[in-house]
Amino acid sequence: MSQSTDHWIDLRSDTVTQPGDAMRAAMAAAPVGDDVYGDDPTVNRLQDVAAEMFGYEAGLFAPSGTQSNLIALLVHCARGDEYLVGQEAHTYKYEGGGAAVLGSIQPQPIANQPDGSIALSDIEAYIKPDDMHFARTRILALENTIGGRVLSAEYMAAATSLAHARGLATHLDGARICNAAVKQGISLRAATAGFDTVSVCLSKGLGAPVGSVLLGPKAFIELGKRWRKMLGGGMRQAGMLAAAGLYALEHHVERLADDHSNAANLSRGLAQIAQLKVATPQTNIFYIEVPPAAVDALRSTLLREHIRITVGQHTRLVTHLNVSAADIERVIAVFTAFFKDWRPS
Ligand SMILES: *Cc1c(COP(=O)(O)O)cnc(C)c1O
Repeated sequence: MSQSTDHWIDLRSDTVTQPGDAMRAAMAAAPVGDDVYGDDPTVNRLQDVAAEMFGYEAGLFAPSGTQSNLIALLVHCARGDEYLVGQEAHTYKYEGGGAAVLGSIQPQPIANQPDGSIALSDIEAYIKPDDMHFARTRILALENTIGGRVLSAEYMAAATSLAHARGLATHLDGARICNAAVKQGISLRAATAGFDTVSVCLSKGLGAPVGSVLLGPKAFIELGKRWRKMLGGGMRQAGMLAAAGLYALEHHVERLADDHSNAANLSRGLAQIAQLKVATPQTNIFYIEVPPAAVDALRSTLLREHIRITVGQHTRLVTHLNVSAADIERVIAVFTAFFKDWRPS
């Protein structure tokens, strides 16, 4: 079923999206200025619009989610402080140890439960007493969605209340918080309620080419701006990038439901294949288990069929705005044909 087409179906991540014509037009038309001077009207508008949408006083446009989370940790914590964080969390596992390297901030990783949450009893247990032997526990950092799983609004309320009651601040790595909100049918404000600060990725499912926005109290964002400059994130005529982010926030939030239904259809289709173990997605990300002996051959078959997936024994599949319902059908057909013929040798 080889196709002579230049159309690639890319399920590696929702970071691979291409800006469409309307987004590119918005970028080209954006008024710009020098954002280090605070002069870029489009960056300022993005920061204001995002703050309003998510219910915060102020926003800060950053070049990446990694930098946005790092800025948050650097403002929340001083040298010798620590943050409570999940073992599987991006801010612990996938940001190069940035908080420790650049902020002398100690992570206190805690096991994530199968649903992605951190047990409230664990949060309680890991908060250290005021004692010179210990790092000072300053904040609880959660992530939603985490590995495509949604932490419920009820859990978020309980975890942030507990943290606040114990004198901690709360930070949300909301790289995919819009997916969590759309999935639960709640507002963006409700999805971030209880968090002092939140980092939102514009370049994941929202489909902007670059950028994240950090949201929080005005004074916090002012301090964050200093760290952003020090980290090299002070950009100049960044309004062209911010325009893409604005377009994404205005047009690409509700449509995340399509990504969720595409993921559900893909999962249902692949679940028909006896050799695979297929998880049921809650949002746009899910995992399948591939027999180790099939990994190499499957990888080559998919590439030949112009399908990009990072194939391993544990394989992640991600849907996004450049994956259509027809693409999903084609991926299911290619997998089905492959496993129909495949026997462990
Ligand atoms: C992608 C991601 C980030 C960081 O984003 P970059 O822009 O790639 O640095 C942070 N947290 C989570 C959960 C992510 O998926």
